[in-house]
Amino acid sequence: MPLCESKNEASTLKEYQRFLTPNFKPFDPVELAKDTERIVTRLGSNGLERKYEDFYATGVYGGIATGYSVGCCLRCVFCWVSWSRDFPERFGRFCSPGEAFQGIVEAARKYRVRKARVSGAEPTLGKEHLLALLELIETSKDIDLFILETNGILFGIDEDYVRRISRFGKVHVRVSLKAGTPEAFTRKTGVRPEAFELPFQAIRHLLDHQVSFHVAAMSADPRFMTKEERWSLIERLAEVDRRLPFNLEEEVVDPYDTTLARMKAANFEVKWPLKYVYPSVRELLRRDFS
Ligand code: SF4
Repeated sequence: MPLCESKNEASTLKEYQRFLTPNFKPFDPVELAKDTERIVTRLGSNGLERKYEDFYATGVYGGIATGYSVGCCLRCVFCWVSWSRDFPERFGRFCSPGEAFQGIVEAARKYRVRKARVSGAEPTLGKEHLLALLELIETSKDIDLFILETNGILFGIDEDYVRRISRFGKVHVRVSLKAGTPEAFTRKTGVRPEAFELPFQAIRHLLDHQVSFHVAAMSADPRFMTKEERWSLIERLAEVDRRLPFNLEEEVVDPYDTTLARMKAANFEVKWPLKYVYPSVRELLRRDFS
């Protein structure tokens, strides 16, 4: 079932949180998850349906079939996904878990890949939809591995969700951390600083239920994370489990059109490309010796 049914879609849309603008009011990501679920999920005759924009395969992870779904509970300024994140009522079509599975398997067969994921949004919205999709993946002859990319908000508040995920042998979770301090979390995602703790709580739940997972962060990009914030992130991770920093996947931000537009709307200025701010060692040596 969706997280909450008390508001209708029209009243949800009136107040719905879109992309960040200067002087935005920090919001509760769990409330935004509920609002988004009212728009992107609905009960159908074959289970909880969720909106998807497309099914295809891409080269990341060495080739992966992807269901491009709609709707997220954060508003990251560096987010690359389509405008469906901000205007979910305008994009996508509702798919039952079976239809989403079919779309993913067809893409996997067409492009001869054996991995799958749900991307383009936060896959954990619509709990019963995702769990039903994973049941189908689990017994599929076409898919060996499902990579569950998440911002960790809903896994942080709902241990039962993580417990149910732990039953699946083909799922590997990738938790994406957006910041190393509560203040930076608010600045980059729009959410209240108290919510900073939720992805770390998600990691604790994943450890407790022995789910296969690793952690990723936008921490290799000094334009988005200072040295001090990066260390703070590493310390927080080590407090949860000393092994975690050793397996941290560090990323940089790429200048997709949607990323640039969201940053402009939020007055979040950085220089592109990254090499102008953070030259490679080869470039530094060339300058020193030329
Ligand atoms: S980057 Fe990920 S978590 Fe952040 S708003 Fe985009 S889809 Fe959501």
